[in-house]
Amino acid sequence: MNILVINCGSSSLKFQVIDTETSNVLAKGLCERIGIDGSITYENVRDKSGKIKEDTQIEDHKKAISLVLDALTDVKTGVIRNLSEIGAVGHRIVHGGEKFTKSVVVTPEVIAAIREVSDLAPLHNPANLTGIQACQALMPNTPMVAVFDTAFHQTMPEKAYRYAIPKRLYTDYKIRRYGFHGTSHAFVSSEIAKVLGKDAKELKTIVCHLGNGASVSAVEYGKCIDTSMGLTPLEGLIMGTRSGDLDPAVVEYIAGKENTDAAGVLSILNKESGVLGLSDGLSSDFRDLWKAREDGNQDAALALDAWAYRVVKYIGAYAAAMNGVDVICFTAGVGENDTKSRKLIYKNLGYLGVEIDDAVNDSTRGEIAELSTPSSKVRVFVFPTNEELAIARETYDLVK
Ligand code: ADP
Repeated sequence: MNILVINCGSSSLKFQVIDTETSNVLAKGLCERIGIDGSITYENVRDKSGKIKEDTQIEDHKKAISLVLDALTDVKTGVIRNLSEIGAVGHRIVHGGEKFTKSVVVTPEVIAAIREVSDLAPLHNPANLTGIQACQALMPNTPMVAVFDTAFHQTMPEKAYRYAIPKRLYTDYKIRRYGFHGTSHAFVSSEIAKVLGKDAKELKTIVCHLGNGASVSAVEYGKCIDTSMGLTPLEGLIMGTRSGDLDPAVVEYIAGKENTDAAGVLSILNKESGVLGLSDGLSSDFRDLWKAREDGNQDAALALDAWAYRVVKYIGAYAAAMNGVDVICFTAGVGENDTKSRKLIYKNLGYLGVEIDDAVNDSTRGEIAELSTPSSKVRVFVFPTNEELAIARETYDLVK
């Protein structure tokens, strides 16, 4: 079945059409600057026709979806003849709160429930909903499925997800840890079990999703028991522009010193911090940071060391939480491609019995590879994530 996968942001919309029988991407692209001016980038992957980018007025998400559907059915560039060849649409939804523990077919009740948890993700959930409604308007007879970033982490035990704050703040406002990147953690932890010829239920796996946004998860016997992001994606690892863990008292202190409010400080912590902040504004891109480090830039060196140190601490914590670990996976932009950042992490894992073949690490970019040696006590892999394929499969499973 052909599934249209939609990932809708406030001013952007990413899409892919995936044939779930072959797992092949037929077409993909991106609408940007929606509501500002607009452009669409489209690629017919099936026929390898190359990327086409066109600047065009995109006043809202409905217009963006209609441009996407036009491109998909265009006689020259298209991959389908008409919209009936799309069996279902899978939508990435950032926050499912406690309501959604798995993907669901979209109904009016589901839309209302996503709206209800929107104050937990005020930038993302309303944009995700706009994407659903725009698709429903243009494809009224096609089933829609909502796939939540938080759902995989709903198996965390209460001792892992509760913050040590007054209970009423949890019961009244649902303030707790939720975790994100769930589709990626679920995909990588289940696919690696297949590669090992095992059932995920036999393995203790730590997945390190290291991209611009980054999180680690502890997956014990197929279920997530802890993950590093919290109420929002700000908690946990040092990321491209996000601080990750820090003393909450920092918020008031910065607000006082910089003469701003909580929202102003959160903007600094989300957008100006992480390796970007540590490197004194140099870059959030690890390629730039390594180049600067090699040119002697001390801030870039510190940013990379502090970033890796935080990952090492989380791996240690999750090995302890599961009382052992069988498999560690590196995934996402940095985890899949950045051989030097991986080395900064694994050189501190010897205490777990991890042994790595440096030559394999140094030559592995963007492909599945086992980095550990045959005598390593823990198996360590690079496993490229594929959130769109995971969303397409979830969608197919619900509508087939
Ligand atoms: P996100 O989905 O969170 O935006 P990605 O998983 O796509 O992020 O990761 C993007 C990041 O991956 C880039 O900012 C860059 O730091 C890093 N990256 C991508 N390719 C490489 C590479 N070849 N070497 C080092 N870092 C890379």
